[in-house]
Amino acid sequence: MSIQIFGLAVSRGVAIGRAVLVASSRVDVAHYFVAPDQVDAEIQRLRVARDAVIAELSALQAELPADAPSELPALLDVHLMLLRDEMLAAATRQWIVERHYNAEWALSAQLEVLARQFDEMDDDYLRERKADVEQVVERMLQSLARASGRAQPLRGGEGTTRDFGGEEPLVLVASDVAPADMLQFKRSVFTGFVTDVGGTHSHTAIVARSMDIPAVVGAREASRLVRQDDWIVIDGDAGVVIVDPPAIVLEEYRFRQRHSELERARLDRLRHTPAVTLDGQPIELLANIEMPADAAAALQAGAVGIGLFRSEFLFMNRGDDLPAEDEQFEAYRDAVLAMKGLPVTIRTVDIGADKPLDRLTAAELRHGQALNPALGLRAIRWSLSEPGMFRQQLRAILRASAFGRVRILIPMVAHMSEVRATLEALERARRQLDEAGKPYGPVELGAMIEVPAAALRVEALLRHFDFVSIGTNDLVQYLLAIDRADESVAHLYDPWHPAVLQLIAHTIAAADRMGRGVAVCGEMAADPAFTPLLLAMGLRSFSMHPSRIATVKQKLLRADTRRLAALLPRVLEAEDCAAASAQWLGNGATPA
Ligand code: PEP
Ligand code: MG
Repeated sequence: MSIQIFGLAVSRGVAIGRAVLVASSRVDVAHYFVAPDQVDAEIQRLRVARDAVIAELSALQAELPADAPSELPALLDVHLMLLRDEMLAAATRQWIVERHYNAEWALSAQLEVLARQFDEMDDDYLRERKADVEQVVERMLQSLARASGRAQPLRGGEGTTRDFGGEEPLVLVASDVAPADMLQFKRSVFTGFVTDVGGTHSHTAIVARSMDIPAVVGAREASRLVRQDDWIVIDGDAGVVIVDPPAIVLEEYRFRQRHSELERARLDRLRHTPAVTLDGQPIELLANIEMPADAAAALQAGAVGIGLFRSEFLFMNRGDDLPAEDEQFEAYRDAVLAMKGLPVTIRTVDIGADKPLDRLTAAELRHGQALNPALGLRAIRWSLSEPGMFRQQLRAILRASAFGRVRILIPMVAHMSEVRATLEALERARRQLDEAGKPYGPVELGAMIEVPAAALRVEALLRHFDFVSIGTNDLVQYLLAIDRADESVAHLYDPWHPAVLQLIAHTIAAADRMGRGVAVCGEMAADPAFTPLLLAMGLRSFSMHPSRIATVKQKLLRADTRRLAALLPRVLEAEDCAAASAQWLGNGATPA
């Protein structure tokens, strides 16, 4: 029976495919297809892993001390029985043989099927056996990871290609996907995804948009209602997921899919069109990237520079092994070289909130887990609490500046003391490079305006910074006190709030008066609904994920900034969000 699940639309377009259910704890397992001639070898990998776990558990059983709890031998018996049971082994092999899934993926797919069967059992005792299956699978995954010489389980993405898989497209359904894991899916096989939790401006949603695949988050019950292998439609425009759609609905969505492919091809042709408004104002369209390799997509999309390199993604999925100065330098230099003389704005790490590091920081260890991470030790606060690491990053960025135009961007600045400490750290990093005889070039220094206090005090900040970049994702979060990652308050996260609009307009005007550069690098810059409004406020520099550049360009090519500016005051005075958007959209300011 067909069902509809409603969530939040975070990344546009339509995806149609078979559901791959992945438990959140298993999201970081590798998902890739094995070549047909590797299927036997993959089954052998599985067999070896199973035998290793059987040997491990048998040894444990043989060595149990006499005073061990009496349940333990029985528990080990159950685990050994499960390992030998065909319901796990044969069905897992089936995923490898029929779908060409790699062993880890096959195991977690089968775990989902079994977990659901256990959940549906009436008998309490049997239902609780689900935990045993999970533990057994966990051991096998660890064994597979050990056998491939990795301390951590393999991550999704590596080697993922559609070349060997079946013809059917696959979509990911999970309770949650952390931003770091999303990054692994960038090169993965999935053509769309759905999560139970998350807000439209969570980092997970942002990475989905940067991948340009249809996505719905905050779909609450999705991972419970969707079954492994169900056909589903993800309507990323409406935020709806349709499970097991009737033929006629499927046909309608296939039509929409073809239509958006044509639209995309049409937009692609704008790539080399100069970004100039109807009244001749040149507009700078920059790209947001997460990894140096994304620079290619930025150039391809026609970006005239990188407006935001979220450097924290270099630090994720690393366990304790954080990138040292040389490794960071190489990453920044690669991005700079890839941009061929165009400016690259590297933001110092924005660790914290919904982008935690794998390892706890010294300060976190001292104070325990943060109670409210979005308001806690995040971004520049974190960097200043780890002065050695901060200087290491600054040195790496400075060294990259010998290879092209580099700008440093500091996230979440709020206090003048943070500004002074940052300037001192930068000076010290330069001195250290001088002493080591390592070359570096001139860099511009910018502050992100994402804390309301910084927006209100932008003029004071601009006495110390060359430019500012408005991070509207956090500015909205902190101004309206809405956790951007929490779907239960997502309906209140509204950039149309007049307070938000006034503060952005104030920031742009203040920077303009001081003759300093100002950009918007939050998601508002990527949303064509806001393009004319930001132009009306005087914004001339927009930074967004490369996939959005053509859409925003199309919008600005049709805009007349003088006419738009005249319409601005009434929107800023609107009573509430609805009135502001109705006022703006109703006054003809935003032609399609
Ligand atoms: C923002 O807050 O708008 C921003 C661009 O930074 P991030 O989304 O990485 O917090
Ligand atoms: Mg931010």
